[in-house]
Amino acid sequence: AKEKGGSNYQLFNSQMKSASLEKLTLEQELRRALSRSELLLHYQPQMDIETQRIVGFEALVRWKHPERGLVPPGQFIPFAEECGLIVPIGEWVLSEACRQNKEWQDAGYEPPPVSVNLSTRQFLQHNLTGRVAEVLQQTGLAPSQLELEITESCTMEVEYATEQMLELKQLGVKISIDDFGTGYSSLSYLKKFPIDKLKIDQSFVRDIMTDPNDAAIVASIIAMTGHLSLKVIAEGVETEEQLQFLHRNQCDEIQGYYFSPPLSIDKVEQLLKGRLP
Ligand code: C2E
Ligand code: CA
Ligand code: CA
Ligand code: CA
Repeated sequence: AKEKGGSNYQLFNSQMKSASLEKLTLEQELRRALSRSELLLHYQPQMDIETQRIVGFEALVRWKHPERGLVPPGQFIPFAEECGLIVPIGEWVLSEACRQNKEWQDAGYEPPPVSVNLSTRQFLQHNLTGRVAEVLQQTGLAPSQLELEITESCTMEVEYATEQMLELKQLGVKISIDDFGTGYSSLSYLKKFPIDKLKIDQSFVRDIMTDPNDAAIVASIIAMTGHLSLKVIAEGVETEEQLQFLHRNQCDEIQGYYFSPPLSIDKVEQLLKGRLP
């Protein structure tokens, strides 16, 4: 038994070693990605249900890896959150999204505001508002052209979260709660937070046509936002039927493959050009 325990320990130890080696490599590669500009942004349009106009673009990061090709965020953002690299990555995303939006404005494309995802670590930073203000100043982008997407896990420390949000709101940027419904935020705090919009998570939207529970949840979230005077957007909308359901229930906006997947810069520019008179 003793020997068995010993070998188990050996196995466990060597597994840990290779896991940590893998993480070390990934961390080094991510640092390189940052310093050699291997990151890029795609943008997914957000559409007003009533007018069918584009009212926003969500910036979504990708990693153009020299050997592995275009790596989706799901394969490196969770790790970046774990090792702390999410902070410099997030700052790059923020300033690149603002720079690009201003460039499109200057080119006469009249772009809608851009939404940027903030990780919890970024949101909790003490100088966050100062950093955001600096980026806006450096890029020349108006605060009203920027929306920050935070998740429910940012709101755990209610007092601190409220303070952070108030500071950001004073700066003039908009705040939305991403993946709404997947966290455990207390509904009573929702009216306390100075937020502009809820983004209903795609896991609820996916089955609204087949699962009465999901349909009820989505309908109630939309109704609640109406009472609280918040805007509401449904994520992951893929079909006409889902769109009709959301329209009937008075959802304000949609985002999803039905309207458009996240687009490369070229495609966004085509889209923006096409909607000019
Ligand atoms: P998210 O913020 O919830 O972004 C929406 C994700 O849903 C995107 O995946 C988008 O491509 C995908 N999606 C959009 N429409 C549909 C649809 O109709 N059906 C389905 N099945 N999926 C749809 P993506 O780009 O792979 O991003 C995944 C996640 O990575 C994001 O989820 C976000 O949590 C994170 N992420 C992406 N960029 C950043 C970033 O710059 N900073 C941070 N902190 N996280 C980011
Ligand atoms: Ca998001
Ligand atoms: Ca989301
Ligand atoms: Ca998500």
